[in-house]
Amino acid sequence: MAIDLSLPPEVQALVDRTRGFIREHVLPLEDAHDGDITAAGGDRFRVELQQAARDAGVFAPHAPVEYGGHGLGMCDRAPVFEEAGYSLFGPTALNIAAPDEGNVHMLAHIANPEQKQRYLAPLAHGEVRSAFAMTEPAPGAGSDPSALATRAVRAEGGWRINGTKYFITGADGAGFFIIMARTSGEPGQRGGATMFLAPADTPGIRVGRHLDTLDRSMVGGHCEVFFEDLLVPESAVLGEVDRGFEYAQVRLGPARMTHVMRWLGAARRGHDVAVAHVAQREGFGSRLGDLGMIQKMVADNEIDIAATRALLTRACWELDRGEPAANATSIAKTFAAEAIFRIVDRSMQMCGGLGVSGDLPLARLSREVRPFRIYDGPSEVHRWAIAKRAVGAAKRALREQ
Ligand SMILES: Cc1cc2nc3c(=O)[nH]c(=O)nc-3n(C[C@H](O)[C@H](O)[C@H](O)COP(=O)(O)OP(=O)(O)OC[C@H]3O[C@@H](n4cnc5c(N)ncnc54)[C@H](O)[C@@H]3O)c2cc1C
Repeated sequence: MAIDLSLPPEVQALVDRTRGFIREHVLPLEDAHDGDITAAGGDRFRVELQQAARDAGVFAPHAPVEYGGHGLGMCDRAPVFEEAGYSLFGPTALNIAAPDEGNVHMLAHIANPEQKQRYLAPLAHGEVRSAFAMTEPAPGAGSDPSALATRAVRAEGGWRINGTKYFITGADGAGFFIIMARTSGEPGQRGGATMFLAPADTPGIRVGRHLDTLDRSMVGGHCEVFFEDLLVPESAVLGEVDRGFEYAQVRLGPARMTHVMRWLGAARRGHDVAVAHVAQREGFGSRLGDLGMIQKMVADNEIDIAATRALLTRACWELDRGEPAANATSIAKTFAAEAIFRIVDRSMQMCGGLGVSGDLPLARLSREVRPFRIYDGPSEVHRWAIAKRAVGAAKRALREQ
């Protein structure tokens, strides 16, 4: 088995350019606004940041080349996205923030030529933002997508959609929505979901309140969205009717891994800040970094960073081969979401009072990475799925004996 972890020269060059752009241009802006993208100017700020990224030649590393991107596969995306994630504003600057980055990926794979022209092209170029509307208040879809309650029923010339969603990232100010709605079956049944595309100004789409979540780095908030007799034409169906859950997997596997890449960059920044601090701060007759219990935290951070990268590489390799990589992405996502939180938490601890203050970026990194243990599948749901596969395989092996 040949293993070669070196990057193609053009990818290495993009990694280096991204690192320079993020550190020189983006980090000072993040620090000036305490990582709060709304306070920094929201969409107006996003447009300025993205122009700067275009000028630096680092815009849209993920998007297909014909839509103005660099066309990177998953393995090549990983180091670029990690560099972008070093600043909380970096992913927005490069147009690789959630949910737009995942939506670009899904539209590139599933949309028809007309839909690509209408939705994918402006999204990939950063002319509009998008939202992916799946989660619903109880008793609707959450960890269990089969609880999907938003309904789409056939109407003259298309479909009529009714339902309520919440936690919809970027909904306020989005140019269009990808809506997951039930077209057959009942809540609780597997299957029967369809994805629809709808411009945000279509009558029947209403964006409600922003849920006041911990994080502050995503443009357009996490919102309630109401679909009230929303009428969409037949051409709004993304892919085929009743195959929505299947398509969600096309989006979710890679989207989980790109979250890992970005948040790993944020964790690495936290670790760098902490190591620099303990290398110079003195106490009890030595540098803090020479004390055993601090060294344990430094080493555990290094181990968590290396292990996250290794699991990510494995999952990206499977995805690049066209495999669903369901187990590998579940394993990498679960480990990474928890490891990244541990890294940032240890980094705060090593910096003492400064760690929880606004003088260092650690407190804001902590508030940003915590929700990752919940979205894209809570840790418990991934563990449940991983265990079910393992036990299922053991049962099959027993039957075959
Ligand atoms: C910041 C943020 C952004 C988001 N953005 C979007 C978005 O853009 N679009 C969108 O559609 N959704 C979005 N979501 C919603 C997210 O996908 C859901 O929060 C997630 O799927 C969990 O669903 P839930 O909140 O309904 O939790 P529930 O399904 O109610 O689960 C609650 C808890 O129960 C436990 N649990 C659940 N199932 C199991 C199980 N099988 N075994 C053991 N324990 C279990 C877990 O601990 C879980 O955290 C976002 C959420 C957040 C926090």
